[in-house]
Amino acid sequence: MNTIAPTSLPPRIFEFCKKISTESPVILQVESEGFSETAECFNNVAIKIEKDGGTVAHGWLIWDWPGVFTEAEFHAVWRSPEDDMIDITPPYDGELLVVFLPDPSRTYKGRRVDSIRHAANENRMVQDFIRLCEANYVRFGQVRNGAQLEGHDAELYENFAKAKEFILDGIRAGANRNAPCLCGGGERYKRCHEPKLHKLITDLIGK
Ligand SMILES: [Zn+2]
Repeated sequence: MNTIAPTSLPPRIFEFCKKISTESPVILQVESEGFSETAECFNNVAIKIEKDGGTVAHGWLIWDWPGVFTEAEFHAVWRSPEDDMIDITPPYDGELLVVFLPDPSRTYKGRRVDSIRHAANENRMVQDFIRLCEANYVRFGQVRNGAQLEGHDAELYENFAKAKEFILDGIRAGANRNAPCLCGGGERYKRCHEPKLHKLITDLIGK
């Protein structure tokens, strides 16, 4: 069995997972195949089934940033004919173990599914980051990496990408709304880049 008892998972992960699926999270080994491509889990698993049998298990990869937020990313792993679940898709950062939450209520229907994110606290910058990601999904959820965008859409996507990095840098640096904005303009964040971010969110959603 390739699943490892998730004894090291903190209780908040179980609480988060309970809101998403009736199953419990497990720690899975990553065993990439030669044909596997990052971010192409559904395709990778389909190729694997054709070669070696087995089935697909849909669910969520769970990523945890302690004190900031927890995220569930829609995902598929391979279930072998021996009933082992194996993640055959290489993660972005080369992790060898991942936390996977099986979710029998979901299947992949060819459309990208937004991640589910839960802020760890009341930090408005973190909540804004989550809103920004959700707004981007509303507008560009079915577009891959900003490819084939033109004109206003291309500009909006670029602004999203910049804003995302900007606010992530702020969160990493432990910034808060009342501190001087990280752009160095001298104003507090809440009077400087926060209103700009809120406008971008509104523009993305198109309201
Ligand atoms: Zn600023």
